Amino acid sequence: MKTKKLVMIPGPTPVVRSIQDQMGRETVAFGDPEFVKDFKELLDDLKNLFKCSGEVFVVAGSGTMGMEMAIANTTKKGDNVLVVSHGFFGDRFIELGKRKGLNVDIVSSEWGETVPVEKIREKLSRKNYTAMTVTHVDTSTGVCAPVAEIGEMMKDFPETIYIVDGVCATAAEPEYVDDMGIDILFTGTQKAFGVAPGLTMLWAGEKALQRRKSLGDIPEYFIDFEKWLPIMNDPSKYYATPAVNMVWALKESVRIIKEEGIEKRYERHKKNAEAMQAALESLGFKILAKECCRAVTLSNLIYPEGTDDAKFRSLLAEEGIMVAGGLAAYAGKMFRLGHMGNIDKHDLVSVIATIERALYRAGMPVELGKGVGVLQQNLMK
Ligand code: PMP
Repeated sequence: MKTKKLVMIPGPTPVVRSIQDQMGRETVAFGDPEFVKDFKELLDDLKNLFKCSGEVFVVAGSGTMGMEMAIANTTKKGDNVLVVSHGFFGDRFIELGKRKGLNVDIVSSEWGETVPVEKIREKLSRKNYTAMTVTHVDTSTGVCAPVAEIGEMMKDFPETIYIVDGVCATAAEPEYVDDMGIDILFTGTQKAFGVAPGLTMLWAGEKALQRRKSLGDIPEYFIDFEKWLPIMNDPSKYYATPAVNMVWALKESVRIIKEEGIEKRYERHKKNAEAMQAALESLGFKILAKECCRAVTLSNLIYPEGTDDAKFRSLLAEEGIMVAGGLAAYAGKMFRLGHMGNIDKHDLVSVIATIERALYRAGMPVELGKGVGVLQQNLMK
């Protein structure tokens, strides 16, 4: 019999039936009054849930488009931009900025650590930066940046637009746009929202919207705030075709989030992450992210001595779960396991049990049931 496959890579994450059903609905015209109403309600919910008194944009695209949209609408060629990087996805802003002709300065940490807030302050004090980017959870390292603390510090730099990449964080790690002093937050549908890939969400505070206005015409067309603003205020208008079924799917995800309660969702992610991490450590894996700054959305697990990455991951796939490999210097030395979105205790128990079976079949020393025991004890706390 074919084994069921759980997608436990750090995005896309498992998509629950009710969200899949929305993607499978008969597509309607984007001007259909029912759809327009649904889209409008979705936008209002997104603003409320993430406490943004500015605007939210929901546009077909992925996380990378969110990165580009943030930069395109707040900077112009020749501007100074500071990239705070905790890994591969933080670094992605470097090339993106350079291609736009920005002067990019970088402050980065060792993989597994965060840049101290005082070091960021020191950098910002030396030059006038138009914008600064911070990746909330860098998926390459599993490190979570202190975005609220950085936002507090940013009060001393009111000219700098504070951009937060929430691709691997939003809807799992607490994020409040206004309260945290974030000027732009963006994410994609495929991670903690538990929807298939396909939409970019971007929240822009008043300062970011003003900055966009001050730029006049920008070279970018599809991702221009000014082009989308009339549609986000009144989705019956047309600029470029909205991804109708994906909007419904996201709306169902937001319904689930509201039903659970966003604070409860944050707590669930934290509890699940701690339980998973304790179980995985008990099986001999080392977590790359230091204890101070571990993400709740995924774990980046360094193998015990002697584990063959390719063999282990193919055994895991045979046993029923898909995980991702390590990036850059950690390729072959680590695997990445997502535990975010609409996954439940059944999934968590199953994942740890599957990892135990894969270790066993790989000939690694493992006591079957040990990780599951630790997980269960933590879940029952
Ligand atoms: N930022 C972060 C933190 C990510 O994890 C990713 C994707 N893993 C991206 C940006 C890029 O998003 P996408 O692949 O959806 O374009």
